[in-house]
Amino acid sequence: MNAVNELSAVIAADAAPPVLVVNHPLVQHKVTLARNADTTTDNFRRLVREISQLLTYEATRDLPMETVSIRTPIAATESPMLAGKKLCLVSILRAGNGFVDGMLDLLPAARVGHIGLYRDPETLEPIEYYFKMPEDIQERLVIVVDPMLATGNSAVAALNRLKEAGVTALKYVCLIASRPGLEHLRQAHPDVAIVTAAIDETLDAHGYIVPGLGDAGDRLYGTR
Ligand code: URA
Repeated sequence: MNAVNELSAVIAADAAPPVLVVNHPLVQHKVTLARNADTTTDNFRRLVREISQLLTYEATRDLPMETVSIRTPIAATESPMLAGKKLCLVSILRAGNGFVDGMLDLLPAARVGHIGLYRDPETLEPIEYYFKMPEDIQERLVIVVDPMLATGNSAVAALNRLKEAGVTALKYVCLIASRPGLEHLRQAHPDVAIVTAAIDETLDAHGYIVPGLGDAGDRLYGTR
């Protein structure tokens, strides 16, 4: 692991895009609150929203910029603005929606796509039931989001599907990644940069991340 600064760490020594673990104290504090089984649904939802905002800040750090001419009330000046590809956030349903909400606070002009995948309870393999993207998805930088990168099967399937649809610029943002899921995703899509707040070492027999935070969708929507 190479420390890039005190608040984040880049894992991966090769030339592939980095896996960035955001170690910022605010992120780590909020992740602990989100992990806690006693955290209520409304607090959990707020925490996921806040963490997604903080991760978005890091995930967009390398966006290209251009200098534009503007007038302030005082003087004419040159000032930086975002340039390059427009953004599309892709939510892996349903927990991804809780994440996208926070990202849209910072990226209000981004388009949003949705992909629905359920896990076959026996094989844990993803089965697609919904896919709706903006028409110009191929031209956009696509940030795929799902709070939990567990086996990596859904993430790999979502990225496969987006590449089949012509997308060439992709990032993946999650709240907690399991080590096996991260390795699976890296192997299948080494061109995709990953941003996460935490890496947990293991999965249980049902594919849940240990210690994780439980079922992110149920905790976001109070369905269990
Ligand atoms: N999905 C979740 O919501 N939690 C896990 O731990 C794994 C998959």
